[in-house]
Amino acid sequence: MTKYDPVLLEQWDKQYVWHPFTQMQQYVREKPLIIARGEGSYLIDVEGNRYLDGVSSLWVTIHGHCHPALNRAIKEQLDKIAHSTLLGLANVPSILLAKKLVEITPPGLNKVFYSDAGATAVEIALKMAFQYWQQKEGGRFRSKTKFISLVEAYHGDTIGSVSVGGMPLFHGIFKPLLFECLHAPAPYCYRCPLERERENCGMACADRLEELLKEHQQEVAAVIIEPLVQGAAGMITAPEGFLRRVRGLCTRYNVLLIADEVAVGFGRTGRLFACEHEGVSPDLMCLAKGITGGYLPLAATITTDEVYSAFLGTPEECKTFYHGHTYTGNPLACAAALASIELFEKENLLAALQPKIELLHRKLESFWELPHVGDIRQRGMMVGIELVADKKTKQPYPLEEQVGHRVILEARRRGLVIRPLGNVIVLMPVLAMSEEELNQVLEITYESIAVVTGK
Ligand SMILES: *Cc1c(COP(=O)(O)O)cnc(C)c1O
Repeated sequence: MTKYDPVLLEQWDKQYVWHPFTQMQQYVREKPLIIARGEGSYLIDVEGNRYLDGVSSLWVTIHGHCHPALNRAIKEQLDKIAHSTLLGLANVPSILLAKKLVEITPPGLNKVFYSDAGATAVEIALKMAFQYWQQKEGGRFRSKTKFISLVEAYHGDTIGSVSVGGMPLFHGIFKPLLFECLHAPAPYCYRCPLERERENCGMACADRLEELLKEHQQEVAAVIIEPLVQGAAGMITAPEGFLRRVRGLCTRYNVLLIADEVAVGFGRTGRLFACEHEGVSPDLMCLAKGITGGYLPLAATITTDEVYSAFLGTPEECKTFYHGHTYTGNPLACAAALASIELFEKENLLAALQPKIELLHRKLESFWELPHVGDIRQRGMMVGIELVADKKTKQPYPLEEQVGHRVILEARRRGLVIRPLGNVIVLMPVLAMSEEELNQVLEITYESIAVVTGK
């Protein structure tokens, strides 16, 4: 590609590109960071400046940027074929990857349906769950058409996944377009929606879910949940046992459990999948973000033989799952995913994470001393630092102060790329990041918070 003048690129970016989740009126007033290359844990901009990637390029990068094994896998596949369709045809990498995914995901998940984003993986899980109950045992369960999700949930930005979302800021305006959904309280212990104390709450939020299920079990098709960590809500970490309890309730009240592991999957929580921490097998699991090691868009919805079998019949019976995306099972993306999963094994990545998770934990202790750090939430390599105007009352910073945004601009000046969720500073380092680099991420984050909010 021709080398372009950074000044011209900046001008064209502002003139032609509409960025996601971005107030463009503000964006065009600031200097954009234009990435040209990546190297391991670093992003390198068009002027040659290097930045540690503290959010894994929006929660996707696993083994680092420009990893030789991943580059090679994609180039080798590229020399065979870039794309062929899964509608009526099969291709080699999608078969091998499906087999691999069935082997590594929790027991019982045996059928892989591909798509290309977290939102589509969720959309597919919702439609599968819905159609399953329509068709199971000749339609005995046709009344089961609704979904239960958690308040503060984020499952993607398509209309179906927004319908099960619970974030008013993102989702409020679309309300007239959405299907109705039942919401159970989030296990947000720092700001308990039921105003209980963690020490003696008996997980009252799960009791609420049980009440909902008890009352509505005839109408409910599935419960959808982000296992262990509600990511986009601000890294809300569920107490130990919450997920297991949800699984138990779904079984007891005969509804399906959809585990949205789009963010937490592929090592982020310290295990390959978050469900493993509590020995949980969901009925449907959604994977995306980290599935290709952060290389290419790919997603998978994986389900059980039980769900799959409800769709079997002659063509005239019309039980087919009529859903697909043009690039479903793309060979390049599947080849990248296979190579990434192989690297987990070859480089013993999960074992290597444990000391890094402990280092994060140790170092984050010192953040409590900052006067405006209200809460620190960590699960594995996922961290949320909630900044508050008043620590005692937990009074949030007003939106217009843009505290999170100001902190990440400070961090950028110091060579770290991070992205906040409102007033929550998120750290989601590249999983293969060295301890030394991790230390730097923490030091820069600490300084940046201190500079913006005071020491
Ligand atoms: C990011 C995310 C999604 C949406 O994934 P996209 O690839 O952006 O569509 C869905 N669920 C969770 C939990 C996520 O974090």
